[in-house]
Amino acid sequence: MKPEIKLILPSAVLGIALALSTESFAQEEFSLEGQPGVQFDGESDIPTTGTLNGIKYVVINGHAIAQGDMVLGKVFADGRLKPTTRGLGQSSLVDRWPDGVVPYQFDEDITPLSKQRSTDAIEHWTSRTGIKFVERTADNETMYPDFVNFEPSAGCASWVGRIGQSQAIWVSDNCTTGSIIHEIGHAIGLFHEHTRPDRDNFISVNWDNIVNGKSFNFDVLNAGIEQLGDYDYGSIMHYGELFFSENGNLTIEAPDNVSIGQRNALSDGDAESVNTMYQTDLSLTTNVSTTDNGVEVDIDVTNLGTMGANDLQLITTFGEDAEWISVSTNSGWECQAFGSELRCNRDTLTEQTQNTFTLLVDPNGAEVGELSARLISNTRESDSSNNTVNYEGPLEIEAPASTPTEELDENSSAGESSENQVPELGAATDGTAGGSSGGGATLWIGLLAWLTRRQRNKA
Ligand SMILES: [Zn+2]
Repeated sequence: MKPEIKLILPSAVLGIALALSTESFAQEEFSLEGQPGVQFDGESDIPTTGTLNGIKYVVINGHAIAQGDMVLGKVFADGRLKPTTRGLGQSSLVDRWPDGVVPYQFDEDITPLSKQRSTDAIEHWTSRTGIKFVERTADNETMYPDFVNFEPSAGCASWVGRIGQSQAIWVSDNCTTGSIIHEIGHAIGLFHEHTRPDRDNFISVNWDNIVNGKSFNFDVLNAGIEQLGDYDYGSIMHYGELFFSENGNLTIEAPDNVSIGQRNALSDGDAESVNTMYQTDLSLTTNVSTTDNGVEVDIDVTNLGTMGANDLQLITTFGEDAEWISVSTNSGWECQAFGSELRCNRDTLTEQTQNTFTLLVDPNGAEVGELSARLISNTRESDSSNNTVNYEGPLEIEAPASTPTEELDENSSAGESSENQVPELGAATDGTAGGSSGGGATLWIGLLAWLTRRQRNKA
């Protein structure tokens, strides 16, 4: 089956606008966990507290809330938690967002202030991490069945991790941009920093100062929490020293001169942890062959990792005068030529997935050794050394079966006239490099002949 080709139009426009991070955090005082107006559900037959997998919660507005703002599930009148509730404390059960993409939308009743702060919080996450946020609309909703819905509420709260279908991040006008950054952190999969199993090495909890009945908010999560990085006093996921204080004295003591509980911005540790949670490993290989219509460059991009990647870009050059002719369609890549440089973009590449497509180029006399390709992504990679291809050493060139070397003689019809046609590529690429070194020498000579003839034609 022959892949279709579509023409790509060179563009002289360098239309890349980098989003500047211009967070403007509200400076108002707030207490994340003690938001006024958060009401216990008034129905007396619904329990007001419970335990899930050893994590204690209180029931607020029909939801089981742990540690002030983490939602464990919906509570029915008989006290049963909604069956889809995740087992908090077991990181393997906290679902991450596919490809590091978090679709979101705003409830129609959200206030303009909350909407603006939520938007600012999203921009902050975007500027600091490889998480991508996509606004869910009528046009793309079928692509994004699972999404975050910013909903008005009396306080700030979020589920931990991806729950499935619509999941709320509750915001009120008392929630600063920083506290919404914190709630998004929960939705992405972060727990409170002070509940790490190793926390007693770094802070001390003054149990006597905690409001009666609220001490469970300070319990360590022991059940399989994935601990990322060093203990981070500056984490936006850390409680402050007065959270749930009964008497105005410290509930959490950090070492002297160490402040905790900031709700301004992600710490370096927060960003690092999330980038590590969502990291993957992309790999790039290329394969070069000749046809009547130009040089075919088979691109093979593989996601070797366990997480999907987002916002991939492949930058390919072939000497200084290359003319990029076409790219195989239905590849998922959108390509544009900027002079001799070809830039191809792709929204996502799922984990453990291989993607192959073909570029057709007239190198305009460039040596094959001048071909280079570089793959970058918005997603952190554990190993980026396999993202670059430079043809500096000896080449192993494969030709599609439909391209006999005889076509490279003087009678070949290849030339400038083919530029506006829609050429068809030969056999589909198999993506494996270096398979047929036996025929490589002949084809290498064939390619040289083709390049030489092209140069002669231009002269
Ligand atoms: Zn929280």
